This record gives sequence, C-alpha cells and structure tokens, in this order.
Amino acid sequence: MNNAAGQALLAAADQQLVDGVLARQARALAKAITLVESTRRDHQARAEQVLAALLPHTGQAIRVGISGAPGAGKSTFIEALGLHLIGRGHRIAVLAVDPSSTISGGAILGDKTRMEKLSTRPEAFIRPSPSGGSLGGVAEKTREAMLVCEAAGFDVVIVETVGVGQSETTVAGMVDAFVLLQLPNAGDDLQAIKKGIVELADLVAINKADLDPKAAQFAKHQFENALGLLRATSAHWRPKVLTLSAQTGEGIAGFWQEIETHRKTLEASGELAQKRRRQALDWMWTLIDAELRNRFRHHEGVKHDLEKVSRCVTAGSMTPAAAAHRLLNHLQEKN
Ligand code: GDP
Repeated sequence: MNNAAGQALLAAADQQLVDGVLARQARALAKAITLVESTRRDHQARAEQVLAALLPHTGQAIRVGISGAPGAGKSTFIEALGLHLIGRGHRIAVLAVDPSSTISGGAILGDKTRMEKLSTRPEAFIRPSPSGGSLGGVAEKTREAMLVCEAAGFDVVIVETVGVGQSETTVAGMVDAFVLLQLPNAGDDLQAIKKGIVELADLVAINKADLDPKAAQFAKHQFENALGLLRATSAHWRPKVLTLSAQTGEGIAGFWQEIETHRKTLEASGELAQKRRRQALDWMWTLIDAELRNRFRHHEGVKHDLEKVSRCVTAGSMTPAAAAHRLLNHLQEKN
C-alpha cells in the first residue's frame, strides 16, 4: 500500500527505528546507519524506506567538508572544533569518506581513537568511513548517513576526507562549505593548487601555525594569490584563507565564525537552497549512471558479446561507435 508520497508504509520495526532516530536515541541512530551502509539488497530496500521517512526532518544542519593530507591535523582540528561547538550548544556528527577504505577495507578516517575527547561526548557522533565498494559507493552511504544524522538532531555535520583522487570533489559535492586543511609548507600548497583542489575550497585553513607563524603567513599569501586567480566557488562568496592551530586552539573560534558568515551569505542570496538542489540532482544522476553501468556490465547479452566486440575494436574491424551502439542495444533485450 502506498501513501500520498508514493512510498510504501514502513514495517513496524523500521517505524520504530525512524521514531528512535527522531527521538535522538544513540542506538537507533547507529542501527539506522548500519542499515543504510548495508550492501544487502533487502536491507537497501528497507534503508530507502527509512530514509524517505526521515527526509522531511533533514536539511537543517550546517554541512562542512574537511580535506587534508594525512598528518595535516584533521582529527586534531575536528576534535578541537567539535568541543568548541559543543560548548556553544551545538551537536556535531563526524562522518568520513576514506578512499583507502575501498582498497584495504580498513578505515583510517573518522576513527574514534583519533578523537578521544570528542568521542566520549554525548553531543557528538563519530562514524568511520564505510568500507568496500567504489568511492561512489562509499560516498553514497556517507551522504545517506548524513541525512540520518540530521534527522537525529545534529546541527553540524562534518565530512572528513583525505586528499586522494576524486574524494575531494565527491565530498565538496555533498556539503555547504568545503574546507582545505593545509600545512605551512610550500611544497604541499603547490600540490593543492596544481591539482586544482583549491578551486573547490570555500575556506583554506593553514594549520600548525604555532610551529612557525612566519611560514604560516607565507603559505596564507600563496593561497590568497592562487585563489585570486581562480574562479570563485560562488557568486556571493570569495574564498578565504585563515591560519590556525588545532593544537593550541588559536583560530578555531574565528574559523567557525567564517563558516557561519559563509552560511549566512549563501542563505541570504538564496544560493544555499540552489546549491543543495543542484547537489541533489547531480547525486541522482551519479546514482543513475552507476546503476546503468552496473546493469550493462551484468547483462547476459552484453557479457556474451563483450569480448568479441572488444576484439573487433582493437583489431580495427569495428569502430568504437558501432561497437558501443551494438553493446548498448543488448540492454533492450530481456535479461
Ligand atoms: P590527520 O592525519 O590529518 O588526522 O592529522 P592528526 O590530527 O593526526 O595530526 C598529525 C600530527 O600533527 C599529530 O601528532 C598532531 O598532534 C599534530 N598536530 C595537529 N595539529 C597541530 C597543530 O596545530 N600544531 C602542532 N604543533 N601540531 C599539530
């Protein structure tokens, strides 16, 4: 039976889960996220229903992405920021998109042992990266976990990632503000600029300024110059560069002020809603692309024909266009 929104009514156990999340129960939250992260088909179907029920209660949080190389100080920074925010009455969820977890199965990021003080606080929820599958798969689950956290009343969601491959672009695509955490080290700065990651940043934070304030200032100017040459991330916001120290706490309060200013600026101009709409649509297309590719790869007709057609293409007896056309046509056959 379907309700007006076209979604099936929830099974009693799942309704209980939804109610538990909305009542901010830690157990229900963890269970809901485990369900969302499950790769079992039947779990995925349930997760979709649970998420649909939670969706009207999402969207209120400030979503912040934080990226940096290993050792840049991400966990130290998130811990310091998290404790600062709790002091100001916020509830903070920390999720991770760890591309290395897709290879090793182990999650380095979002690990509780890395944020010891924060993880003991009831106002904080820390979840390591889901493992296995592609970066897209990991990101999909993190995106959904973010919605569950929002429904559970977390008003700040931090998504942490390391500077590897596509992960920054993926995380920038699911948050309101994307932050690059950098070391005051010229080699590193150039890397980020060269890789084009700086273009994604709404804020660049130069960490460990306590170690060498001069070097931190120098790095700040380098970034400001680079950002001046780049396209802004928004019509109403020019990316900013800050120096701070996650260890001493210097600059943490100022950092959060900038995030709040960014949020207010985007809200006032209507850009936040627009950005989120665009992110949601982009996400839909990412999922469609992934699923189509999946169906294509697993289609019996394609599997049967793929090797032969590939050989013809490499031998030059069939054009890639004709080959693609022929293979795609298999999708119209019943599998
Ligand atoms: P992550 O790999 O990016 O999560 O980096 P960590 O947070 O684990 O930090 C790496 C190392 O840098 C640790 O030994 C931290 O204690 C140290 N660290 C982090 N932030 C600062 C800082 O602001 N100043 C100094 N001096 N050390 C820091």
